[in-house]
Amino acid sequence: MISVKEASMVYDNGCRALNKVTFRIEEGEFVFLVGASGSGKSTIIKMLTAEVRPVEGRVLVNNFNIGKIKKREIPYLRRTLGVVYQDFRLIENKTVYENVAFAMRAIGASGKAIKNRVPYVLELVGLIGKEDCRPVELSGGEQQRVAIARALVNNPRVIIADEPTGNLDPERSLELMVLFEKINELGTTVLIVTHAKELVDQFGKRVIMINKGEVASDQTGGYYTYEE
Ligand code: ADP
Ligand code: ADP
Repeated sequence: MISVKEASMVYDNGCRALNKVTFRIEEGEFVFLVGASGSGKSTIIKMLTAEVRPVEGRVLVNNFNIGKIKKREIPYLRRTLGVVYQDFRLIENKTVYENVAFAMRAIGASGKAIKNRVPYVLELVGLIGKEDCRPVELSGGEQQRVAIARALVNNPRVIIADEPTGNLDPERSLELMVLFEKINELGTTVLIVTHAKELVDQFGKRVIMINKGEVASDQTGGYYTYEE
């Protein structure tokens, strides 16, 4: 569960990126986070992952209090979150299988658990047959799915994706959203930062719109009403 209450965030240069932001995301929800470039979306994600801290207000993420979290607790917070970054951040000299397995090794999973889990998530994201490829041998959409498999492999409670359809054509973008819907139906909370107006409108999920560091609207079955 994510609870953000009257949270503000100010960067070192004095830029007030968030101003008294309030929203709550329950377990099992599917939420789009939208807004113009510079509105504060990335800062919200950084706050949820404890890369930055609120200067006021309260931010709770899966029972961790971000304003008070200790450095040594941050890895445990992050295990509850699967983050898919815009640039994927895959390891270039490792295969698809190894990129995903590596995330499990990093938290000390057993060989047996890895052998059970990795094929399951690769199947889920539609990468069976690509296990032995390296990232350069994959299309952008496939690399994206490796990043999703890696984010999912440790069974996080929430998956967060930053502009996941950024480099994909409309058809691939639609497939990707259908994949996130499937992941959501399997019980993972989904939070997607996006500019893809058509997709947001098509899916009719909850939409939180950020404007100049504030929540401009928060609607279920919402539409992307922001005009570029
Ligand atoms: P979005 O993700 O919606 O494009 P950001 O969260 O990246 O927006 O940015 C929100 C505001 O914070 C912008 O005014 C941006 O210039 C500022 N900002 C973002 N990152 C930094 C930083 N590292 N230092 C100073 N200001 C920043
Ligand atoms: P270990 O568990 O000691 O790594 P394995 O026999 O399971 O040994 O695997 C040997 C190598 O092949 C490992 O690097 C493993 O991650 C990789 N591997 C295992 N299963 C698959 C698979 N289905 N596809 C691709 N690589 C795999």
